[in-house]
Amino acid sequence: MRLQQVVKDERRPREFDPREYISTWTEKDLLHGKIVDAWVIIFRTRGCYWARSSGCSMCGYVNDVAQEVSPADIGHQLDVVLKKHQGQPLVKVYTSGNFFDDHEVSLDVRERILTELGDRCDKVIVETLAHLLRRDQLEHALRFVDELEIALGLESTNENVLRYAVNKVWGLNEHARAATVAREAGATVKTYLLIKPPFLTEREAIEDAVRSGHEADPHSDTVSFNPVNVQSRTIVDRLFRRGEYRPPWLWSVVEVLERTRDLKAHVKSHPTAGGLVRGAHNCGTCDRRVVNAIEEFSLGLRADFGDLSCACQEVWRAYGETQPFMMTSADPLAVLEA
Ligand code: SF4
Ligand SMILES: [Zn+2]
Repeated sequence: MRLQQVVKDERRPREFDPREYISTWTEKDLLHGKIVDAWVIIFRTRGCYWARSSGCSMCGYVNDVAQEVSPADIGHQLDVVLKKHQGQPLVKVYTSGNFFDDHEVSLDVRERILTELGDRCDKVIVETLAHLLRRDQLEHALRFVDELEIALGLESTNENVLRYAVNKVWGLNEHARAATVAREAGATVKTYLLIKPPFLTEREAIEDAVRSGHEADPHSDTVSFNPVNVQSRTIVDRLFRRGEYRPPWLWSVVEVLERTRDLKAHVKSHPTAGGLVRGAHNCGTCDRRVVNAIEEFSLGLRADFGDLSCACQEVWRAYGETQPFMMTSADPLAVLEA
């Protein structure tokens, strides 16, 4: 399929030191209803196998991975990063790929990571593609940690959106199977959904996210909405530079959160690069206020967004009406200013 080749052609993997982890930081998150420090670790691995063969249209992770990383290299990254633990009770482990891909993270390394982090933290969250998750891996993993959460990037429940906008060939069926396996083993499930993959208008993106949230709800303990941000060397980046893609308005994120408050799952969103031109943003004046409100909502510190307003809401509404009229998902403002 052409999109698969176009996505791949855009990528420029760079050489990195396989013994250096990508990043680590601490952020706020909820654990058992309380706000706690959450430790985020991004290990450098050979990366997501899907990104190496084609990849998702918005994903620039492949730019950060090393060509080959041995189990000993990842072990060294772990040794170094463990020294940075400061008592955070929750840890999120990312690999720019799939924690349960045996070719990316071998069984031995997985066991070591889980043992070390399970000893230090109450809860461990790891990310993987749904179709890679096996029952035996989960049962093995749960021997080393008290609480395990499996984060799965579903992105959308609409097969056309997945195939033609995200360039992903797995969907709700694979997600539901993985969620069942995870829950039966004793883990919980976090579902990532996108807000505004490329080629969708602002309004289509809102409706897609709201529908996906409801359809994923039975298979999720947490639903995390990820507004698309423009990462280098991706299809989204190429469209953005041509004025054919604008990251979602923060008002769109707010609408999605408001309309998915009825989900059983905990609903949250942490807009990467929120308020910046390459992330979800509004007019510039209200951005910080709205991003803060979204963070507060995600931490259970506010129930709605009724107190927020800005003159740019009118522009946002007009934007949503203009795209269907112009019969394009391109950024109308960028087109008019060009
Ligand atoms: S978004 Fe996830 S599944 Fe898609 S290419 Fe990136 S790492 Fe792989
Ligand atoms: Zn504004």
